[in-house]
Amino acid sequence: MWNRIAEKVERGERLTTEEGVYLLTDAPLTEMGALADQVRRQKTDGTAVTYVIDTNPNYTNYCTVDCHFCAFYRKPGKPAADGYTHDVDGVMNMMAAADKLGATTVLLQGGLNPEIPWEFYTTIVREARKRYPHITPHFFSAPEIHQMVEVSGLSIKGVLEALYEAGQRTLPGGGAEILATRVRKRISIKKGGPDAWLDVHRAAHQVGMRSTATMMYGHVESRAEIVEHFDHIRALQDETHGFTAFVPWSYKRGNTPMEAKVPHIAGASMYFRVLAASRLYLDNFDHIQATWFSEGKKTGQIALHFGADDFGGTLFEENVHLATGHLNKTTIAEIEAIIREAGYAPAQRDTEYHILKRGEGPEALATLSADVPLFIESLRELPAEYPSQLEGEEPGDKLVMPK
Ligand code: SF4
Repeated sequence: MWNRIAEKVERGERLTTEEGVYLLTDAPLTEMGALADQVRRQKTDGTAVTYVIDTNPNYTNYCTVDCHFCAFYRKPGKPAADGYTHDVDGVMNMMAAADKLGATTVLLQGGLNPEIPWEFYTTIVREARKRYPHITPHFFSAPEIHQMVEVSGLSIKGVLEALYEAGQRTLPGGGAEILATRVRKRISIKKGGPDAWLDVHRAAHQVGMRSTATMMYGHVESRAEIVEHFDHIRALQDETHGFTAFVPWSYKRGNTPMEAKVPHIAGASMYFRVLAASRLYLDNFDHIQATWFSEGKKTGQIALHFGADDFGGTLFEENVHLATGHLNKTTIAEIEAIIREAGYAPAQRDTEYHILKRGEGPEALATLSADVPLFIESLRELPAEYPSQLEGEEPGDKLVMPK
């Protein structure tokens, strides 16, 4: 099977579902990484790895959706000491802080909070554009767009047209998790099936926005369901060509309702496999993102040899993974050093993957200051308690990975 796949990739032929499952299960990992790296070099600048200067603040942590993998949200109607909802000024303060740090992208998301009026969303886009024209407002994941549909009475397309008119040009890919009905029923039943996410991204592309396709794996999905996810986004990319990149990361268990029910944490090998498989399977995507943030700096660095051409963002602020006890910080100097050590020139990009500035290549590593703090390790606090039964679950139900 491996030889057949390698020959098909060499000929530029599309891989089948069965071949996708093989890549995620039995294909030889290092050979697959080498082939993915070869494809990445044909599609993108093989001498550079891109990154973006960004930050991920949040406007509210109140949310009605109760995703079983989420440690970030607080329930509306149950005021929590650490619950918050920022107004327009509060969001503009976040934009000012991002501006001070040199960010070119602000990825702003929040919980689904029914108390927030429709006007809030368009106003923060319009004000952000007016006050910080050099920063891209990369705001609102697909579930938040559905929340706006609820409060505005508009269609999905109507909401996105209004956001576009206010100045929004890109949409982050959050909320996809695994685009397979069974999985979404088990971990985020209130978000609807795969179409709930796909319909938003299709409409976003139709109104002229670009977006990313994300995937959170390593919980209750099967390998076939990961391929189903790939199939959905590959088909939509054929239809609209609106995705800039594919961005996978693994589920972080700490403090989340389903932690005790997921028996196995996806490790680095699975991450490399997912990245390489996505590079080979998603033949209509230009960019595949590796992440220092979610998988750790050393894993993220090696991932640059498994088909990824982008190292994600600086993420100066991040609260969703932090709520699980996953803390990871970096600096621009450190990101550039990690990329150079992997053998590439760091290139700063914007939200739509245009190169803004290209740095010196690996040779510059020798002359860098000794105080570039390479590899500050992630910290993770131990979680507290977990419910034995989750919302929407029958007594005795188990979240187990199907064979
Ligand atoms: S993942 Fe998003 S939609 Fe789900 S509970 Fe958390 S904040 Fe709400």
